[in-house]
Amino acid sequence: MNATNGSTESTHAHYLSDACQQLGYGQEVYELLLSPARELHIQLPIRKDDGSIVLFNAYRVQHHNARGPYKGGLRYHASVDINEVRGLACLMSLKTALLELPLGGAKGGINCNPDSLNSRELERLTRCLVEKLHRNIGPTQDIPAPDVGTNEQIMAWILDEYTKIYGYNPAVVTGKPLVVGGSHGRKEATGRGACQVIANYAKHHNMPLEDCTVVIQGFGNVGRYAAFFLDALGAKVIAVSDSQGAIVNHDGLDVAAAIHHKDSVGTVSGTANCDIIDNASLLALPCDFLIPAALGGAINSANVDAIKAKVIVEAANAPVSWTANDILAQRNVPIIPDILASAGGVTVSYFEWVQNLQFVSWSLDQVRDALDQRLAQACRQVFELADEQQLQMRSAAYRIASERLKDAIFAAGI
Ligand code: GLU
Repeated sequence: MNATNGSTESTHAHYLSDACQQLGYGQEVYELLLSPARELHIQLPIRKDDGSIVLFNAYRVQHHNARGPYKGGLRYHASVDINEVRGLACLMSLKTALLELPLGGAKGGINCNPDSLNSRELERLTRCLVEKLHRNIGPTQDIPAPDVGTNEQIMAWILDEYTKIYGYNPAVVTGKPLVVGGSHGRKEATGRGACQVIANYAKHHNMPLEDCTVVIQGFGNVGRYAAFFLDALGAKVIAVSDSQGAIVNHDGLDVAAAIHHKDSVGTVSGTANCDIIDNASLLALPCDFLIPAALGGAINSANVDAIKAKVIVEAANAPVSWTANDILAQRNVPIIPDILASAGGVTVSYFEWVQNLQFVSWSLDQVRDALDQRLAQACRQVFELADEQQLQMRSAAYRIASERLKDAIFAAGI
């Protein structure tokens, strides 16, 4: 069972391989769990507003659907390629299995820089994607959602384009705006989920949250909501960063002011009563919880030795490379893995899908309660297995998820 380099794809192959070995599965089961069912590579020719034609490469990898329809986000980013999407699709199958959602795993993306496209161009690109992909998605087939570089607006365009072909069926995509069938609490869900997972971990380890300090790398949709909810629970958020800079206040940041500054100026850098630091220094700050909430590979072999956090919480997908993971394991630094810490988003996507299939709407309190309960149950299962078998939390989570996925594949029959 080999996984040789540090890409997103092989990161998960490495952990999956370990889980299969621990579970006593042979090479054939490992390959069955790792290999995607279908990979689509689509070209999207777009006319920009200046008249020029640009060709974009898009991908959708459908990993497994033994436990339910393929499910996973769409990423618009310059790093998107087939290897990245393939690794992230596998991660989605494990995430839905760990949270016991009746869904499979998929991921898609367009290799582009969304900041270089205006809103009309982004809309044309998204509609072109649906034009090429509509036969392969659908409420019981494959349900896209937001990810890095995509948002509610893009999901609304997907729904509209799909509706033109098949009629109104809001369950084809999640993460939509409320006015077109979105769910209360979906936008905040990944950040809230990371916060709830930390609260469960802190309780399990008798760490009063009011005494805990938090550092967050990334202040997009995930990081800002994680900061907001942790602050509300009494934790002290001492530093946050975005792609343009990082800020620190050792007495605790004014989180609302940082959010306001980001919304009005485009960056957290410059928020009142904070010192400006660089991203490398932010990652090296001593703290109880360090939350990488941006892109994959943020903590890697080049910077792992500087990490002083007591616990790392993967609110992004694959933010710790497996080389860094192994070094942190040797140093006994616990990592709450992405398939648990970043699972809030897909969990509320599942609630949105359920609401859409029944044409009902849940209140924000209903959504939050249901999310908190699901996460608490998954945390309990992971923490108990990790304690019982003296495993890292990632190994425990991968074991639970791999076993569920394998059981479903075999129950359905090869
Ligand atoms: N992109 C998010 C993730 O990686 C959400 C996926 C979804 O809601 O389907 O978990």
